[in-house]
Amino acid sequence: MGWKTLDDMDLNGKRVLVRVDINVPLVDGVVTDSTRIRRIAPTVRDIIAAGGFPILLAHFGRPGGERRENLSLNQLVPTLERAFETKVHFAADCVGAGAKEAAETLQPGEVLLLENTRFHAAETKNDPELAAGMAALGDVYCNDAFSAAHRAHSSTEALARLLPACAGRLMQAELEALEAALGAPERPVTAVVGGAKVSTKLELLGNLIEKVDYLVIGGGMANTFLVAQGKNVGVSLAERIMKDTAAEILAKADSTGCKIILPSDIVVAKKFEAHTEHEVLSTENCPEDGMILDAGPASVEQIISIFEESKTLIWNGPLGAFELEPFDAATNAAALKAAALTRAGLLTSVAGGGDTVAALNASGAAGDFTYISTAGGAFLEWMEGKTLPGVAALEQA
Ligand code: ADP
Ligand code: MG
Repeated sequence: MGWKTLDDMDLNGKRVLVRVDINVPLVDGVVTDSTRIRRIAPTVRDIIAAGGFPILLAHFGRPGGERRENLSLNQLVPTLERAFETKVHFAADCVGAGAKEAAETLQPGEVLLLENTRFHAAETKNDPELAAGMAALGDVYCNDAFSAAHRAHSSTEALARLLPACAGRLMQAELEALEAALGAPERPVTAVVGGAKVSTKLELLGNLIEKVDYLVIGGGMANTFLVAQGKNVGVSLAERIMKDTAAEILAKADSTGCKIILPSDIVVAKKFEAHTEHEVLSTENCPEDGMILDAGPASVEQIISIFEESKTLIWNGPLGAFELEPFDAATNAAALKAAALTRAGLLTSVAGGGDTVAALNASGAAGDFTYISTAGGAFLEWMEGKTLPGVAALEQA
């Protein structure tokens, strides 16, 4: 891990430009879920405690390079003040004379929030001039926005090269968890990949078969693999045109020594509907009008025994159509087992992905996982083995 943390920096009397992700949902100007704001509070608090002056840089929504009042960060000031328990000043631009004056007159213990970086079209072009304008406002750069680190933008990439740079607490926690899961993991390592489609997760599967010992495939994408094995999946969600690709993945896994686990039994219904009539069948016996909506109990038993053997688990994608009861059963049972093993100190468990986080929250298991990433796209790109520009810039800083 070649990046610095706040502990490595001299922050006393320094203006610290902190890139954060505060894309919280707003309804009529009111924040309906402040999770993302609360999660950056430790970084802000630690900078203040070290004698620094936090100056927050963030994008908000997709204004497309234009000033749009409904996407002004001004609306978040009251929520930020509650989360940080201090005065939060606001500057109506993220560069320029007004921002400079606000940065220079900031008092100890207070915070300055700069306006939406994406009001400048240059931001998403990683424009060095815009980054230089931002750099002029501070002495140190701190990136606490892992969820924006897969984008090379002025405030996430170019700026990191202009000032002494470090990771904030949230970025640090995320990178440490991901490193523990895939960088230098304790073996055996198991990955669970589920969800709807093979096509959206090809690169993910390709990277994982090089790195993990067991790859559990579930959800709709497992159906495509069953098709590749010549099995009937009835009217299930399956991407038949991906069948050869799935066969190639199975063959490649053989050569890398990664064991792929597909469902041995399935929960089959006639329609995509909660509580609809269903039965458990062997994967050999899906009828022509059958729709596979979940993995069966024998599959769950096998997954659980692999978890018991594993030291590290990385999970993206539900094992079934978890939004519809009772087709959340396999996902819930596996998640609760992973949670129990983690609680007992036997497993390091990391999970991420929009629907995955929702599914693990619904199962009640999320709280016991070692780390749940809410970073979405950045988490997936990291799992795919890609270099994240925002992280790379910190490493080279
Ligand atoms: P994530 O957002 O965590 O990356 P995905 O978006 O890839 O996950 O997958 C989640 C979706 O996959 C859910 O909407 C779920 O209903 C769907 N899904 C899982 N298993 C099946 C299945 N057997 N048939 C149809 N849809 C499924
Ligand atoms: Mg999804």
